[in-house]
Amino acid sequence: MSRLAGKRALVTGGSRGIGAAIARRLAAEGADVALTYERSAEKAAEIVKAIEALGRKGVAIAADSADPAAVKRSVDAAAQALGGLDILVNNAGIYRGGPVEDWSLADIDATIAVNIRAVVLASQAAAAHLGRGGRIISIGSCLADRVVEPNITLYAMSKAALVGFTKGLARDLGPRGITVNIVHPGSTDTDMNPASGPGAEAQLARMAIPAYGKPEDIAGAVAYLASEEGRFITGAGFAVDGGVNT
Ligand code: NDP
Repeated sequence: MSRLAGKRALVTGGSRGIGAAIARRLAAEGADVALTYERSAEKAAEIVKAIEALGRKGVAIAADSADPAAVKRSVDAAAQALGGLDILVNNAGIYRGGPVEDWSLADIDATIAVNIRAVVLASQAAAAHLGRGGRIISIGSCLADRVVEPNITLYAMSKAALVGFTKGLARDLGPRGITVNIVHPGSTDTDMNPASGPGAEAQLARMAIPAYGKPEDIAGAVAYLASEEGRFITGAGFAVDGGVNT
C-alpha cells in the first residue's frame, strides 16, 4: 500500500510500543517519518533503521514532551529534516495511577505536561507547517470515555482533555483543509500495559473481544485517518479497544 506516498509525518514517542508501530506503518504506506523519544535512543535508532529499510527517510529526535521548548523544537526539526510536515501523531504518553491521597504534585504536573500540554504545543507548532490535507491525530484512551475502576483518575482526566481539544482544533483548522482526530486504544500489549501484567485479567474481563490488542491494531486506524480516505472525518474519536466500552 502506498496511501501516504510523499507525505511527511512526525510521531511523538515513536521509540517503543504503539508509537513505534505507528511510525513503521506510516513508513510502510509511503511516508517519511520523524519520531521523538525521551530516553530510548537505541530503540529509536532501530525504528529509524526499519523505516529506512522500507525505502523511506527516518529521523529520530530526542525531545522530552514535558519540556515545552523541546516540544516546539522537535516539530520544527522534523519539518526541517523532512522538508515539510503533513501528519502529526501525538502519541507520547505516561501513566501515573494511585489513590487520591497518594497523588504528588509531581504526578499531577507530569501527567498534565506530557499527556496534555505537549499535545497542545506540538499541534500548535505543527499547524504552522501543515497545508491542505494535513492531519493531526492524537492517541487518547478508552478511559477518556468511561472510567471503569478507581485509581486511574489523573490518566483518565488527561485523555478526556484531549477529546475537547480535538473537537475544538477540528473547528479551528477545518477551513484550512486539515483534519484533527483522536484514536482511543483499549488494552494494548506494550511496556505501559503488558498483556502479562497484574491488571491484565481484570481488563480482559471487561472486553467484548477478551484479548489484548497489538500496537499494530492502533497503527492501522491511524494510517487510515492519515490517508486520503480519512479526508471527511474530523473532530472524531475512533475506539480501537476490543469493545471494552460497549
Ligand atoms: P509505552 O510506555 O510502551 O511507550 C511510550 C512511548 O512514549 C515511548 O516511545 C517513550 O519514549 C515515549 N515517551 C514517554 N514519555 C515521554 C516524554 N516525556 N517525552 C518524549 N517521549 C516520551 O506506551 P504505549 O505505547 O503503551 O502508549 C502510547 C500511547 O498510547 C500513550 O499516549 C498511552 O497513554 C496510550 N494508550 C496506551 C494503552 C495501552 O494499553 N498500552 C491504552 C490506551 C492508551 P522512551 O522510549 O524514550 O521512554
